[in-house]
Amino acid sequence: MQQAEDALQPYFKENKNIAYKNFKKVMSAFTEYSVTESDFSGTTGYGYDDVGRDKLEEIYRDVFKAEDALVRTQIISGTHAISLVLLSILKHNDELLYITGQPYDTLEKVIGNTKEDVGSLKEMGVTFKTVDLKEDAFDTEGILKSINERTKIVGIQRSRGYSSRKSMTVDEIEQVIKIIKAEYPEVIVFVDNCYGEFAETREPLEAGADIIAGSLIKNPGGGIAKMGGYVAGRADLIQRVSYRLTVPGVGKEMGASLNALTDMYQGFFMAPHTVMESINGALLMSYVFEKLNMDPSPKYTDKRTDLIQSVSFNNEEEMITFTQMIQKASPVNARFMPIPDLIPGYQNPVIMAAGTFVQGASLELSADGPVRAPYTVYAQGGLHIEHVKYALEMSLTELLEKNMIEL
Ligand SMILES: *Cc1c(COP(=O)(O)O)cnc(C)c1O
Repeated sequence: MQQAEDALQPYFKENKNIAYKNFKKVMSAFTEYSVTESDFSGTTGYGYDDVGRDKLEEIYRDVFKAEDALVRTQIISGTHAISLVLLSILKHNDELLYITGQPYDTLEKVIGNTKEDVGSLKEMGVTFKTVDLKEDAFDTEGILKSINERTKIVGIQRSRGYSSRKSMTVDEIEQVIKIIKAEYPEVIVFVDNCYGEFAETREPLEAGADIIAGSLIKNPGGGIAKMGGYVAGRADLIQRVSYRLTVPGVGKEMGASLNALTDMYQGFFMAPHTVMESINGALLMSYVFEKLNMDPSPKYTDKRTDLIQSVSFNNEEEMITFTQMIQKASPVNARFMPIPDLIPGYQNPVIMAAGTFVQGASLELSADGPVRAPYTVYAQGGLHIEHVKYALEMSLTELLEKNMIEL
């Protein structure tokens, strides 16, 4: 472990620079809007004149270089934030084109398979197409061929999520947007920014995207926010999204923040640092498992644009042992032992380890994967590197004791 940390010093140093650049953006927005203790007091009921809520949205707007932003506890998850974008902008006869292949699993019901899928885009008469990545790059030829006069939104998922493809960097996103907009300036480019915020020094709106969405129990909540999501981008689009979240004609004017604002502010303040800690933990994992020939992805030498780290084990037993040790090394619910189980939407049993303070928060250390060859576990998060290191030490010790690995 010491050797790993020594070898990773240059990468840690680079990540410190990224974190500091991002922190300066956040801090200068806090200063610009002179955040004051009274901003945290929140409102009740209808939530009119929620000064702290409105100010936080201005801070997100500036940091993400948007025209407008919506940052709300009433957005219950990342999936909700994304579906607000899709359901508010797309209309009957429009087409949605995802250019990073099949999107995140939880969007399946939003897109819909048949017209009987209640509330889905399909039911509304919106069609859906995907273009897969080609050798881990955008298939620009395929994309341009797939866009037609009905294509309203081009969707990009920045993070690989739980798939074997590569995550797309902001530079790569910028290049493909340039190519698309040169031919189709009217197309709206949406980026699912989940897991991506603050991993690099630029965000997708700076690369030409029109609208982005994400979850506050991931990166921008800094491990502190207890709930919420955000959408940021072009003002006319944010108006639509806000009308969909609340009520047409009301939009951002209403929505009480109760007592959630302190956590949302403090979380955003912490986020650049916590994202760095999490990525450094992923590097540590990647380095150690590369030395054990377990095919980590990305490699510790690869440029990072999100939190996800995958590791492939030799068999089911090793995969389960590792995941169980992540649970055992958690600050919360460590006495529960995860076992593989079938969950709707998956063909194989899935095993999940999550002992988090905030339910489902994946900026906190968690690990999961479908139990099938190549026995890949997706690990993400870690509020600080000490926790990831501790969990790694515990899992390696156990894998060694069971003669599953050799040093
Ligand atoms: C987590 C995630 C989502 C969904 O967010 P939830 O908060 O789990 O609903 C969507 N897309 C990507 C890339 C994600 O990582």
